[in-house]
Amino acid sequence: HLEQQNILKTYLDKTPITKDGIKVDVTLNIGSASKEEIALEPYVDGIGLFRSEFLYMENTHLPTEDEQYEVYKRALEGFKGKPVILRTLDIGGDKTLSYMALPKEENPFLGLRAVRLCFAHLDIFKTQLKAAYRASVHGNLWLMFPMVGSMDDIHKIKSVIEEVKSDLDSQQIPYSKDVKIGVMIEIPSIILVIDHVAKAVDFASIGTNDLCQYLSAVDRMNPLVSSYYQSYSPSMIRILKMAIDGFNAAGKPISVCGELGGDLIAAPILMGLGMKKLSMSKSSLAPIKHLIVHHTMDTFKSLAQKAVTLETEKEVIELVQKTLQEAS
Ligand code: PEP
Ligand code: MG
Repeated sequence: HLEQQNILKTYLDKTPITKDGIKVDVTLNIGSASKEEIALEPYVDGIGLFRSEFLYMENTHLPTEDEQYEVYKRALEGFKGKPVILRTLDIGGDKTLSYMALPKEENPFLGLRAVRLCFAHLDIFKTQLKAAYRASVHGNLWLMFPMVGSMDDIHKIKSVIEEVKSDLDSQQIPYSKDVKIGVMIEIPSIILVIDHVAKAVDFASIGTNDLCQYLSAVDRMNPLVSSYYQSYSPSMIRILKMAIDGFNAAGKPISVCGELGGDLIAAPILMGLGMKKLSMSKSSLAPIKHLIVHHTMDTFKSLAQKAVTLETEKEVIELVQKTLQEAS
């Protein structure tokens, strides 16, 4: 096992190109833009998910605009012009702030969470957006909004962004005009209008952790129902396909930043469905690069084509294992 781990480590600095020459972007999920995280810059194609809520959770007060600006600047400079997908505050659900009383809710995962909470606290939302836009001059900022469920959410987000930009303009504070605006795909309702979404935003990233929870009506934290939380179910694969097809048809970038992005069963299917960018935690980088360089995109494609026809999660898992074994 140790030997296997050592072999895998040597794959960290490989360029993720399949045996038939298709480049896949492999990006990193981060939480703080720490030195350790920034040190991984040479090995990745950027940041696929910067969970900005950690900045809020690890603090004793709401981080000020200046405090946030410094952190976002550090991330943008550290990744040297590669895309940095900064996700706005995703608090609520299981994530709370010690210094801010959030409403007690019967179903917090279905409640005032993430962008909904930001709409209810526009001051907090605008402070974060202002800090992010100010930092945008230091790199390649892609701004992403969590828990978007409808086109109404997208319209609201855009109008808040316009307000923030005009505030900056009136104060003559510079910001990049190339900031990309994107959404997380993690509520099934948004996938049913994916054609509209793909027109309205610059990019999207799929949050498979929440998507599975909301698609299957299974609390992702509840061990009593964990066997119902089936990330590789044919339903998941079909809905992932809808999201990927929608963005590919519009010629807009889509990635996956939930756990499945770094998962050795799911990643082959995702790539086969047309996913060109996978984002993951540090520990998955080498194993995923190993997977990519040892297989062809053709293998992944035929795998995905079969996977969408299956009935159960078990069949999907067996298909992936069998196909990869035969191909290597
Ligand atoms: C997800 O839901 O898949 C995701 C990436 O966001 P988080 O796990 O932070 O909710
Ligand atoms: Mg999520």
